[in-house]
Amino acid sequence: MGNYAKTESTHYLQVALPTPLRRVFDYLPPKSGIDALSPGIRLKVPFGPRKLIGILIAITTKTDIPPCSLKHAEHVLDEQPIIPRDLLDLCRWVAHYYHHSLGETLSTAIPVALRQGKPVAQQTRKLWRLTYPAAEVPSNIARNAKLQLAAWQLLKQHLKGLHEPMLKSLGVSSQTLSALEKKGEVECILEELPTLHTMPQSILHEAPLTLNPEQAHVVQQIRQAAQQFQTFLLQGITGSGKTEVYLQLIEHTLKAGRQALVLIPEIGLTPQTLHRFEQRFAVPIVVIHSGLNDSERFLAWQKAIDYRAGIIIGTRSAVFTPLAKPGLIIIDEEHDASYKQQDSLRYSARDIAIYRARQTNIPIVLGSATPSLETIHNAKAHRYRHLRLNQRAGMAKPPSIELLNIRGETLQAGLSSALQQKITQHLEKDQQVLIFINRRGYAPTLLCHECGWAADCPDCDAHLTIHRQPAHLHCHHCDYQQPIPERCGRCNTASLFPVGAGTERIEDFLIGQFDPTPVIRIDRDSTRGKSRLQQLFKDIHQGEPAILVGTQMLAKGHHFPKVTLVAILDADSGLFSSDFRGLERLGQLITQVAGRAGRGTLAGEVVIQTHHPESPILNSLVTEGYDTFANTLLAEREKLGLPPYGYIGLFRVECKKHEEGEQLLLQLRELINQFLQHNNLNGPLGVTLLGPLPAPMEKRQNWYRWQMLVSSPARQPLHTAIAFAVHQLEGGNQMLVKLARKLRWSVDIDPQDM
Ligand code: ADP
Ligand code: ZN
Ligand code: ZN
Repeated sequence: MGNYAKTESTHYLQVALPTPLRRVFDYLPPKSGIDALSPGIRLKVPFGPRKLIGILIAITTKTDIPPCSLKHAEHVLDEQPIIPRDLLDLCRWVAHYYHHSLGETLSTAIPVALRQGKPVAQQTRKLWRLTYPAAEVPSNIARNAKLQLAAWQLLKQHLKGLHEPMLKSLGVSSQTLSALEKKGEVECILEELPTLHTMPQSILHEAPLTLNPEQAHVVQQIRQAAQQFQTFLLQGITGSGKTEVYLQLIEHTLKAGRQALVLIPEIGLTPQTLHRFEQRFAVPIVVIHSGLNDSERFLAWQKAIDYRAGIIIGTRSAVFTPLAKPGLIIIDEEHDASYKQQDSLRYSARDIAIYRARQTNIPIVLGSATPSLETIHNAKAHRYRHLRLNQRAGMAKPPSIELLNIRGETLQAGLSSALQQKITQHLEKDQQVLIFINRRGYAPTLLCHECGWAADCPDCDAHLTIHRQPAHLHCHHCDYQQPIPERCGRCNTASLFPVGAGTERIEDFLIGQFDPTPVIRIDRDSTRGKSRLQQLFKDIHQGEPAILVGTQMLAKGHHFPKVTLVAILDADSGLFSSDFRGLERLGQLITQVAGRAGRGTLAGEVVIQTHHPESPILNSLVTEGYDTFANTLLAEREKLGLPPYGYIGLFRVECKKHEEGEQLLLQLRELINQFLQHNNLNGPLGVTLLGPLPAPMEKRQNWYRWQMLVSSPARQPLHTAIAFAVHQLEGGNQMLVKLARKLRWSVDIDPQDM
């Protein structure tokens, strides 16, 4: 075998394997040779004692490993690449940009079935027909073979043949068919599945709306860029008709024989958007989200790649769906934090989508009422075309917003008496009220009145949240649960009481206070089960007076025509967030939630409870709107060199022994600093390190957490430094490798939460 390698093989295979290691692995070609091999096929290879399925990345004539120690790839799983060239290139870029293993990146991008080595299903369907259309029942079908007779008669009535699923639905089994086939009476033809090329159907189910002048202008501007790369920021206030703009852009894309990829934040929360797509278009749509099982996901992927679906709608991970004929990408609510994956491969689907659009030379539209500061900054710098929709599409008027001072007020379940009066007023007019609080459960803390003890999670630095339905204490960070104790864990008196209010407690209070008005609670707990959320939405759409209480879930894309009062109970938590994005998020949330008020013909009112009604930034948001607010925040970020004016990466470490994480990061900092000095990358224009510092939640799920921030005014030096650091951790520096073995570390490029 050694001889074979030396004499015959001058080619080496670079294979990406599903391991965290940030490198490809070299193999000798399989014994069958390299003729049938091209990048994007799967190979089974030996890896230590195991066999792994990897993706062939390249065939080279060089290797850094002594060829005699290389092993042969064992099996070739595919004749054709299962990963198209552009997806492979995309994944290489993603792995490079996020400093992540290419093998794991590919694992994130492709369906599980493919990762596991399942064969790519045959893209054909079976058509059955009679071999000879005889007038009489052939003699080799016995008169008492009822099933065969029935099948024969059926096919005689359909001489062009019937597809197998149709036959099955008519009660003809595969056994019957193969019996007839053996007798030579019927034959089976394998037909290719129809693609959009061969489907003789119209594109639309229903006529599009007549666009208002603003919408028409936007559609025209984006259409002018058709078939070439350009990024558009579509900033349209809530209710301005962005979705209609998307629909009409997609219509043009489909008419040009191309596909559209649409990313939305969370499928379950935007059933209405989805419904509008399905109502409008007659072409097949695939929907890709976390609720799909493996085979559904695989099917969706195949429909997209075979040009059997015209529209691909999905959440974050759908950004990797390969398209046969890409024509347009739309990112709805582009500011939404759910586009950033928070573990493993910490990618931003929005940023990857922009890369894809550039790579395939097609337009991309980022839509939002409240664009992220990064996107606004890019639009100002003319990297993106900034388009606007400033008017509500229907009759609705923008709501009035009031900052309600609650300083020194006694609150009941978080509600001031002024707010309660307003609720009464709106209910009396037969309207609906929406109360927003970003905290589920009954109360965030169980406290002892005698000694001040609070019920904490044993595994996290966090209080346990009290839940009443069903009654228990729950850690929202690690899922730890326990019964509610009757006595204090420290002084053993029975003087425990709940502090603060979550959705359950507010619901309780409102039921008592506004009886008999129904109270509809919408949070993750009340919407478990598939159709639960849809049912709650249906109740709301009945339009009867009601109070809706909910979390973030209520802030997104819903259209509740009868809601005229929206209240935000706790704006102050956003005002004092430790995260530098806290204020940006608060402004987005207020603007989005306010967009839920008065979307019908009724005027809307928004009340924001705060202890700081004089806060300049809140006032600028309320009186001057999101643009001015965003400009103020951008000016602050610029002063501090924070994104989008600086670039950041975050090393995160989790360890079992508190000091180990700090030790590792101190060592790493030392090495990075030497590297920076050596390469003249230190100083204010180079790379700056901050940390190691304990993470905002220092202990979580029994792991101690540390972090170190790496920042730079330019992207390139930041990535150079991080690439160096990652290399040290992964084998470059033995001491570091030894420390790293005892703990978990990761690197997060463009982190969202820190
Ligand atoms: P956005 O996505 O910007 O929040 P939507 O697309 O949901 O706004 O539109 C808000 C409402 O206005 C929807 O009920 C939609 O059907 C309606 N609408 C949008 N465009 C038009 C139009 N050109 N003519 C009439 N109604 C429209
Ligand atoms: Zn106590
Ligand atoms: Zn916990």
